Amino acid sequence: MEHAAQSPLIEAMQPFTTTIFSEMSALAARLGAVNLGQGFPDEQGPDALVEAACKAIRDGHNQYAPGTGIPQLREAISEHQQRFYGLDLDPAREVLVTVGATEAVAAAILALVSPGDEVVTFAPYFDSYPVMTARAGGILRTCPLSFPDGDFDRERLAAIFSDRTRLVILNTPHNPTGKVFSRDEMEFIAELALRHDAWILTDEVYEHLILDEAEHIPMACLGQVADRTLTVSSAGKTFSMTGWKVGWVSGPAAAVAAVTAVKQFLTFTASGPFQYAVAEGLRQPVQAYSELASRLRRRRDFLRDSLQGLGLATNNPAATYFLLADFGPLGVSDAAAQMPEFAERVGVVGIPVSAFHLPPPEAYVQPLVRLAFCKRDEVLQEAMRRLGTVSGAPLGS
Ligand code: PMP
Ligand code: GLN
Repeated sequence: MEHAAQSPLIEAMQPFTTTIFSEMSALAARLGAVNLGQGFPDEQGPDALVEAACKAIRDGHNQYAPGTGIPQLREAISEHQQRFYGLDLDPAREVLVTVGATEAVAAAILALVSPGDEVVTFAPYFDSYPVMTARAGGILRTCPLSFPDGDFDRERLAAIFSDRTRLVILNTPHNPTGKVFSRDEMEFIAELALRHDAWILTDEVYEHLILDEAEHIPMACLGQVADRTLTVSSAGKTFSMTGWKVGWVSGPAAAVAAVTAVKQFLTFTASGPFQYAVAEGLRQPVQAYSELASRLRRRRDFLRDSLQGLGLATNNPAATYFLLADFGPLGVSDAAAQMPEFAERVGVVGIPVSAFHLPPPEAYVQPLVRLAFCKRDEVLQEAMRRLGTVSGAPLGS
């Protein structure tokens, strides 16, 4: 039985057996801890979308949707890109509906990256980028974002580009730092992609969760790279419906066709009735989009100010669900190693930021923890009450 006891998992996947999000949610559930780890809202999304999804099921939209997504949704995505950003997209050829942004990212990487190709991104990064890059046989090159400002060294970024760079993955607004890349930064990145003849995959799932006056600029709006840019987004974040798993990718027809070629054999299609509801959601008036952002702003402020009140250094995220805090004063010097013990002792779970860096992480990353503030006020208050009880003595002492 020795054969059966050994993991049949291929070597490229061995480092990635359980996502940090599953691991931390399971830890919180096991301990009954406050879960500020995995980023999902704990409140119901808009009633109108719930009703629209129920209606789609009752109306009988319960068989396979077309592989590229229902036409109504592709049209609504195209209209959305026009309404918010002035982008012109042919819904038939330049838009593909996917199973969340996760599938869009996976299919795009598998479609574009060959063994030996290099993929450039910033660290910390969303967890699926290194996994799918490794699965495609590619090599991930990362440029660090500083804490707490989220800045990067332009020379360092330029130095990780090479003739082998095939793809740049930009995530703006950025998970986990909440950074919104400025036009100047994006033009610098675009210029590097152009010079090295690389594709750009831009993950913009938090495009509507802008908390301050920062402006979200889609990469596809930078004229010089629009013809080499694939843009990804998702209804999960915009409408607080992460379980619906409706995402999309848009860009030049040939590149969308390339992503479709892979996507059709991963899932072919999914989330049929939810696609009808998301099409309705995307057509909502502009103020419906900003309501969630103003609630999140209040919660970000509460969490940031309370943590700083405990003497912790935090960043001030301009967007997203997430805030970064240095847990050093709470006795945490290596969040990845200490989170289980910390969660048991204090009853709060966050995500160690080192999980979003290539190993070994730089020293400044090790005490950093990502906390999700897309939670009800009372949940955030309870988390702060528990954090406020920590003596600051090193764990294990
Ligand atoms: N990209 C980023 C940056 C994310 O934070 C997430 C997770 N929410 C995803 C992609 C995946 O999105 P989805 O849940 O739509 O698959
Ligand atoms: N995007 C979510 C986060 O960053 C997690 C999504 C997932 O669990 N794959 O927390």
